[in-house]
Amino acid sequence: MIAERMKSLEASGVRKMFELAASMKNPIDFSLGQPHFDVPQRVKDVAIKSILEGRNRYTVTGGVPEFREAIRASLSEEGVHSEDMIAVAGGSGGLVLALLSLVDPGTDVFVPDPYFATYGHMISLAGGVPRWIDTYPDFRFTAERLESAVNATASSSVRGHPKKGRPGVLLFNSPVNPTGVAYTAAEISTLAQAARRIGLQVISDEVYDHFSYDHPHECWLKHDPGAVLVRTFGKTWGMTGWRSGFAAGPKAVIEAMSILQQFTFVCVNTPAQWASIEALKTDVSELIEGYRKKRDMVYEGLKQAYSLHKPEGAFYVYPKVPVTNPIGNNKDVSAADEFMRRCIENEILVVPGKTFSQKNTHFRISFAVNDETLKRGIDRLVKIARQMA
Ligand code: PMP
Repeated sequence: MIAERMKSLEASGVRKMFELAASMKNPIDFSLGQPHFDVPQRVKDVAIKSILEGRNRYTVTGGVPEFREAIRASLSEEGVHSEDMIAVAGGSGGLVLALLSLVDPGTDVFVPDPYFATYGHMISLAGGVPRWIDTYPDFRFTAERLESAVNATASSSVRGHPKKGRPGVLLFNSPVNPTGVAYTAAEISTLAQAARRIGLQVISDEVYDHFSYDHPHECWLKHDPGAVLVRTFGKTWGMTGWRSGFAAGPKAVIEAMSILQQFTFVCVNTPAQWASIEALKTDVSELIEGYRKKRDMVYEGLKQAYSLHKPEGAFYVYPKVPVTNPIGNNKDVSAADEFMRRCIENEILVVPGKTFSQKNTHFRISFAVNDETLKRGIDRLVKIARQMA
């Protein structure tokens, strides 16, 4: 009954944590990837007004002209000029359309590991072959790492099934979910040069573009106009449930994505498109400043007990599980599993590293919670680490 393609997909690990949280009395929930603040009032007002004024019908597939113009102007202010753009159903909508438009069955899709949990599923859905590029222990993706992964794949393809002369796709993300790495302008420039030299088609997932704490966010498109940029309104303006985002890039790719959207999602929900225009005019720097403080708080609080990289962006930290060898009598229970068990026992929800990686040595904390919860959670995590040491 159920189609073959569903066999390669499984319920997201994050979603499983969400279900687990529902069964706990008073959990500290560090598992979900969405900001803790609500949509700014003026953005809500525009959504409500749009509904009341009857803006409730289909729009053209690419989005209402006013929305498209607002996106163009906002990108232009950032120094980004793209041939075309399309309104999409959040970052996920943009990624699915981009992958289905660019990936053939068997296409290699290079992804720095750790990666956003749904990438593997989306790539499989498009028939692509995920090629994970290990970035441990510093989580920094470099031109050298990219080149050696492409070379290793090319030599294995010669022995196996040679590709049709297409080097494939690079699915890039900055700031990174789950590590919090945010690439600098110099790093993006070097990476983009390498990707162009190799001939990779890049999809740049920049849904956390506003959450960059130590340097301004750098858009991949500035260095590679052939890439497809994906952004969302969900994270920055706390409207994850409204499903609004956009993709920008070369005309031919955006046109293919638009055809797909026409036959699938049709258009982005109309009141959300109008509200997104208001969102682009709404300053969130104070909220971001609050998140910078949370970043400092979680890093300073955990570094005494955990090995972790200080995140420069997004709202995650990705510490190492305190003990790496199998512990206790049961050698089948890894340190990561034992750590998760202890977190659940202490009513604290984090997401295991295996959700975001081929390795299971780390775990993700989302610090998108209020300061009081963050403080309690840090104290509990420090206690767990001390117990396991
Ligand atoms: N990309 C990354 C890296 C993400 O973390 C997320 C959301 N967790 C998305 C894309 C999807 O964003 P949206 O909710 O707008 O679909």
